[in-house]
Amino acid sequence: MTAIVWFRRDLRLHDHAALHKAVQTGEDIVPVCILEDRFCRSETVGDRRLHAFLSAVGALETNLEHAGSRLIIRHGESLQVLEQLIQETGADKLFYNRDYSPFARSRDEQVEMAFCSKGVFVQGCKDLVLHEPGEIMNKQGKEYAVFTPFRRVWQTLPKDRPFPIAEKFPTWDGITDLLSEKAPVVEQFGREKPLGEQWKPSLFGEEAARQRLKQFIEEDLYRYKEKRDFPGVEGTSRLSFALQAGTLSIRTVYHAAAEALLEARGDEVASIESFLTELIWREFYQQVLFFHPHTVEHAYLPQFEEVAWENKEQLFSLWCHAQTGYPIVDAAMRQLNETGWMHNRLRMITASFLTKDLLVDWRAGMAYFAKQLIDCDDAANIGGWQWSASTGTDPQPYFRIFNPVSQGEKFDPDGAFVKKYLPVLQHVPLQYIHKPWEMPLHLQEQTGCVIGLDYPPPCVDHAQRRKLALSLFQEARDRHLTKTE
Ligand SMILES: Cc1cc2nc3c(=O)[nH]c(=O)nc-3n(C[C@H](O)[C@H](O)[C@H](O)COP(=O)(O)OP(=O)(O)OC[C@H]3O[C@@H](n4cnc5c(N)ncnc54)[C@H](O)[C@@H]3O)c2cc1C
Repeated sequence: MTAIVWFRRDLRLHDHAALHKAVQTGEDIVPVCILEDRFCRSETVGDRRLHAFLSAVGALETNLEHAGSRLIIRHGESLQVLEQLIQETGADKLFYNRDYSPFARSRDEQVEMAFCSKGVFVQGCKDLVLHEPGEIMNKQGKEYAVFTPFRRVWQTLPKDRPFPIAEKFPTWDGITDLLSEKAPVVEQFGREKPLGEQWKPSLFGEEAARQRLKQFIEEDLYRYKEKRDFPGVEGTSRLSFALQAGTLSIRTVYHAAAEALLEARGDEVASIESFLTELIWREFYQQVLFFHPHTVEHAYLPQFEEVAWENKEQLFSLWCHAQTGYPIVDAAMRQLNETGWMHNRLRMITASFLTKDLLVDWRAGMAYFAKQLIDCDDAANIGGWQWSASTGTDPQPYFRIFNPVSQGEKFDPDGAFVKKYLPVLQHVPLQYIHKPWEMPLHLQEQTGCVIGLDYPPPCVDHAQRRKLALSLFQEARDRHLTKTE
């Protein structure tokens, strides 16, 4: 008897629920990864995001080889490819890890329906999260709309332990004869391969992810709370890609931190708890998207579905190209454009700036992030954007509007971060580093940062735009109230 294990966003051998369950059946295994055109050829997915994903697939292929098996990589629509493979191998079981995004759910339902009717046993497993959508409900049997009560319940529930690694397992006899693409690369899809050390494929595989976790637990976890908001210091885990592509499992990450908590003293306890809270945000947004799939395209709060965004192309372009004239915003956008990752504090600042200062619809910013971020996760990206644009689950009202100057001064107090990504500010005195346009002209000349020549002037006036944003949100809310009365 033969079982297919379908790898999707769980590109690892350690602590893998579906692989573990399949191995337990004692059947011969066929590991499969399907490269769908809707992802690999989509214009909404940037070259570097695709490169990171394919590198992780390549690493899994190598790891499976070392385990005496073989990853079958095929292009095409999942249902068709799986049907074909079931025919070729005679497999009577299919195992995969559940994914809660609307597209994945409908695809997986189709697969399940098609195979169950043919007598193939199909098993979806819990793996992406510690607590699935539907596990944490309020007294009325409804999902939580607010994070804090969700977190309280989440913390009380027992957590699954990591599954043992499937080091050696029986592989289907004919596996070497099956057709498979060799280690996929972006060029196959007409894309450009990113160059430089930071894009080495090995950095995106399971080994690199495990190494990163180990280093974070040893070096930064105990001071996470104190450092996590400062983009100029290495203070966060940088595990988001690993958790997105599944080169690391959430159980492994959670238990590594929970074990450290047992040894922690004083401030270390708050730091580890603060890190665990971020993992809970990840699960909170998974359940928001699960219960509200319309939030992929529409506001969670209906009253803010029709904010009269200005949507000026030119302002959007300045934001994308790191030319807004606000150093913290521009340095953040450079970090995104150059590295495919952005610090959480900066994601909030740039998203607030785009929506509340530039008055561009959050959906445009979200799509830009989705293309650039290698860690793009629909649930977290939608949740983060709607939180920042005040159209989402944030219980704070819409008048939370970040001031890009004071945010810079507070979270990059020595200007180290903006100087790193905007070398033109290198010699600007600290008092002007987050508002260089206030420098007297002679100082601009002396420091080699003449506004309008070396660095752009602010593209909008924050105080004015803040007022305008407030009135647009208020109008949208009033219009909605009138409609629903
Ligand atoms: C506008 C916006 C867009 C975002 N888009 C994404 C996205 O596409 N993918 C993504 O993984 N995160 C996203 N986030 C959340 C957060 O910014 C990143 O998870 C974090 O910066 C990743 O860095 P890290 O791994 O060092 O995080 P750490 O601070 O070390 O956190 C550990 C892990 O917890 C999870 N996490 C942390 N914060 C959040 C959060 N607010 N929401 C959900 N999960 C969280 C991530 O998996 C992260 O790797 C977004 C936030 C905002 C404000």
